[in-house]
Amino acid sequence: MKKFALTMLLGLVVFSASACTLGVDSDGESITIYSERHYDTDQILFDRFEDQTGITVNVIDGDADPLINRLENEGEDTSADVLLIADAGRLHRAKDKNLLQSVESETLSNNIPSNYRDSDNYWFGLTKRARVLVYHPDRVDESALSTYEALTEPEFEGRVVTRTSANIYNQSLMASFIEIMGQDDAKAWAEGLVNNFARQPAGNDRDQAKYVVEGNADIAIMNTYYIGRMMNSSDAFEQEVADTVEVFFPNQETTGTHVNVSAAGVTRYSSNPEAATQFIEFLSNEESQSSFANANYEFPVNEHVEPHDLLKSWGDFKAQAINLSVLGENSQRAATIMDEVDWR
Ligand code: FE
Repeated sequence: MKKFALTMLLGLVVFSASACTLGVDSDGESITIYSERHYDTDQILFDRFEDQTGITVNVIDGDADPLINRLENEGEDTSADVLLIADAGRLHRAKDKNLLQSVESETLSNNIPSNYRDSDNYWFGLTKRARVLVYHPDRVDESALSTYEALTEPEFEGRVVTRTSANIYNQSLMASFIEIMGQDDAKAWAEGLVNNFARQPAGNDRDQAKYVVEGNADIAIMNTYYIGRMMNSSDAFEQEVADTVEVFFPNQETTGTHVNVSAAGVTRYSSNPEAATQFIEFLSNEESQSSFANANYEFPVNEHVEPHDLLKSWGDFKAQAINLSVLGENSQRAATIMDEVDWR
C-alpha cells in the first residue's frame, strides 16, 4: 500500500514537472517540415524562429516528389505541418491531391506579391528563380539574343540545349507559354525549339551549362541559381563553367522572363496549422528573406529585400506577369504538347 502511494506521488511529481516544462516551453509546441532544402544556414533561421516563438522545428528532408508521395500515403496520420518544395507546378500537384490547406494570413499577403502565391492560398512562394538563357560569349554575341521565341529561328539550329520534358522546370516554362501565347503558338514554339536542339536532352540544369562550355552547344535554357551554386562548387570544372558562361534574361522588351518559386504550404492534416502558418510568415519576413534566398542563390520574394550581390550584378529584369497558379493548371497540357513535338 505504502509503495503504491509512493508511486502515485512520484507520478504526480513527474507529471507536474513535465507540465511545468511544457508551460515554460510555450506548451511544448513543435512543427514538422517536409523540406526539399538542406542548407546549413536554414538551421540558423529555424533556431531563431524557435527562440522567438518557443515552437520547435523538426525537419525531414528529401526530394520533392517522394515527399509529396509520403504525405499522400500518410494521409491524416502524417506528422508534417509544412511542405516546402520548389516549383509552383509541384505545389499545385500537392494542392490537387488534397494534401494542403488554405490559409488566411495578412502577413503573407503583405510580404508576398499576389502572383507568387496560390490564388486560393494553398501555397506561398518564398524564393524566386528565373529560367534564363546561358550562353558562351565566344560563340554568341549578346546582341543576337532577344526572346525564347527567337531560339526557334534558323540561326540557332543545332545550338540550343535544355533538359528533358519530364522535368518540372521545363513543364512549368511550357505552361507559362500556354498562358501567355495560347496553346497553338506554344506548341509551334516547342516544335521549333526541338528542331534547334544541339543534342538529345539529357542531364540536369548544370549539365546544360557544361555542354555549352564543352562546345557541344552555344545556348542553354536553365535556372539562374545553378550559376551561383557552380561558382561556389568544390568541383573545379563547375567553377570554370560558371566563370565562362554569361546570363541573359530573355523577353525583356516583350512578355518577360519566366520565373518560378520555391514555396511552402500548410499540410491538409497539420495538427498545428497556426504554428505552421507562423513559420511560413517568419520565412517571408524581411529579416529571414536574405538568408533564406541566398542559401540557394535565389531572389527573395519579399520586395523589400535586396538579392545576393551575384544576382544584383545581372541587373534588374522584367518577369512574366502571370499568376504562378496557372503553371500547375496548365502543366498537364504542357506535358502533352512536349510529348507531341518529341521533346523527350
Ligand atoms: Fe533545381
